[in-house]
Amino acid sequence: MVRASASNVVRSICLSILQLIVDHIYQVLSCQTLTDLRDKIRCVSDLMVEGEFSVNPDLPSDVCAKEIYKSGFFFIEDKFYNDMRDPDCRDYSRVIMDWAATKPRGMGPLESVVMENVKFDDLCIRLGHPYLYMHQGNCEHLIVFSDIRMLQPDDILDIREYPLMTMRRTKQRTFCKVCLNTASRWVTLNDELAPENPCYFCDPCFRSLHYDEDGKKVCKFEAYKYFDSHVVL
Ligand SMILES: [Zn+2]
Ligand SMILES: [Zn+2]
Repeated sequence: MVRASASNVVRSICLSILQLIVDHIYQVLSCQTLTDLRDKIRCVSDLMVEGEFSVNPDLPSDVCAKEIYKSGFFFIEDKFYNDMRDPDCRDYSRVIMDWAATKPRGMGPLESVVMENVKFDDLCIRLGHPYLYMHQGNCEHLIVFSDIRMLQPDDILDIREYPLMTMRRTKQRTFCKVCLNTASRWVTLNDELAPENPCYFCDPCFRSLHYDEDGKKVCKFEAYKYFDSHVVL
């Protein structure tokens, strides 16, 4: 049963050089914590697989970045909310606060607290004001609270459904540069056979172009797993 009477609509906005585009919209309950929202935010950076695979593209790669690098924070109204649920989590805000402390004026005072203890009810926010969600070291998302309202009878009344994604931007696929037909699964760097650097390939094209019948590399290149956000999110 839904206990909270108000919900916030949170828009996660993808930063682009030319314009700001709404990437996802979530509804969250005021009784939920910031970590509840963080766990629902979908970003391709969390899915990345570490390592260079050109020597053996079949090397096991079942551990994604989200399982290794669990740190992250929200920055809302001069306060950092750090996710410290895992013992390996780092306080990403520390270096920023140390830097801000060297500035004579105009910054802060900044504060740092633990994200998992904070409910949306506890936040003091300004609607329409840009805030920040940062994870994976340098992956930044602009966050905007666009609405605060009472729960309505036509809202979903099952608390387990929240935070609820109500909109997801349709993205363009990154097509394979060889067949121009299939979503990419590999990206190569410094690739002697590629027309571009970096260059994107589907799995069959990647293998047939870069390896001989014995599975040996036929040229110099670096290969990394690629996750097309249109396909995986
Ligand atoms: Zn991200
Ligand atoms: Zn292809």
